[in-house]
Amino acid sequence: MIPATTFGGKRVALFGLGGSGIATARALLEGGANVVAWDDNPESVARAEAEGIPAANLRQEDWSAFTSLVLSPGVPLTHPKPHWSVELARAAGVEVIGDVELFVRERNAVAPDAPFIAITGTNGKSTTTALTAHILNSAGRDTQMGGNIGRAVMTLDPLRSDRFYVVECSSYQVDLTPSINPTAGILLNLTPDHLDRHGTMQHYATIKERLVAGSETAIVGVDDAYCAQIADRLERAGKTVVRLSKRLPLTDGFFADGTNLMEASNGRYERIAFLEGIGSLRGQHNAQNALAAVAACLKVGLELGEIQSGLESFPGLAHRMEQVGRKDRVLFVNDSKATNADASAPALSSFPRIYWIVGGLPKEGGIEPLRGFFPRIAKAYLIGEAAPAFSATLGEAVPYEISGTLDAAVANAARDAAEDAEGEPVVLLSPACASFDQFKNFEVRGDAFRAAVAAIDGIQVIGGGR
Ligand code: ADP
Repeated sequence: MIPATTFGGKRVALFGLGGSGIATARALLEGGANVVAWDDNPESVARAEAEGIPAANLRQEDWSAFTSLVLSPGVPLTHPKPHWSVELARAAGVEVIGDVELFVRERNAVAPDAPFIAITGTNGKSTTTALTAHILNSAGRDTQMGGNIGRAVMTLDPLRSDRFYVVECSSYQVDLTPSINPTAGILLNLTPDHLDRHGTMQHYATIKERLVAGSETAIVGVDDAYCAQIADRLERAGKTVVRLSKRLPLTDGFFADGTNLMEASNGRYERIAFLEGIGSLRGQHNAQNALAAVAACLKVGLELGEIQSGLESFPGLAHRMEQVGRKDRVLFVNDSKATNADASAPALSSFPRIYWIVGGLPKEGGIEPLRGFFPRIAKAYLIGEAAPAFSATLGEAVPYEISGTLDAAVANAARDAAEDAEGEPVVLLSPACASFDQFKNFEVRGDAFRAAVAAIDGIQVIGGGR
């Protein structure tokens, strides 16, 4: 745990007692703060009290005595409207911050030289975070990974100058971290997402920009217009900016040329790493993630050789284009995290010949946005409530069957793919739907796919146990 010593002796209000809220309260108490915690859910309050966290209804407290309100990232700060605790803090002139801000202040105070890589963006945050931490770890660096992935940031091991911190930040977390100042800050991409929580795209982009604006080196994917403008703006402000493109040669920065990762300087470029043959990093989207990880690792002092071997041994993240099995030429891929059409696009674009298991609880627009990929689909296997609507979209364009259940879909797709005479057929679960009609969540759905694949006669299981 990282004790929040910069809050020692201060009276701090804390709202939100889910998993990370309790961890944050502990870090504050350990640092010597006088904490008053609360939650709208009485069960969460009772659980926190049972763990020795002082709780009281913050509506009845004297706010002039608080220095800060520490808010859980899930609690509305601005949209659709500020939570009542935020209103009370604002009325009393009390700052509203989150756990990453506690981390940032502690690092400033205790180990300002500790390499700190912070990652945000609409898509690819977890992959880039896990990949960066994996490269550092495999190069023998003492590495801590957390934030919006895995462990809450204040539960990481205590700050030390030679310890590397890789922290994934959702936009909610960035919003609560006014002094974020990573050694390398990564903004991967920006597309409309979570606008319910952030109001407008402009507001969402402004929040994300803060992470890179505060960085020693700002690493920015410039393949979308919002991020390209952010990179230009930061550069005009005199910041060190490293641009990334997954598709276009850049004059300066890092770009992908197929599976080759290139570094450009003044229009001259050289290959610095490659992704050829790395199954966990297939696809253009992963080239963007890998470019970001490479740029960040170079910034914190790794050698190219160390970086390449880290890329090659990256196991990938579960449920994101995860290779789970192979039988002869047929590869089985679990992309259960794809809960809408946009999220399925990267997987569909990464494989040329697909036996596609799709369906579940459909989202607005269904699979219509994926029509451009239909020529890659050898056959579709429809599951869950979406089956009738998706069969109408597929129509004559793609052969399909209504399999109903995931187990039936896996069995039938495996049988058909085995008879395919062409290349490397892929049985892909990329549902483009929520899972709740048949599964508790996308993880359970992905695990069920993995189990069904593992039960196939003669299958060679890949990975697992994560
Ligand atoms: P996040 O943590 O931002 O949700 P993940 O790394 O968990 O992102 O990836 C989730 C899904 O987003 C992946 O399964 C893939 O479909 C897609 N994805 C990953 N990286 C990118 C990227 N750089 N650009 C666009 N889509 C991506």
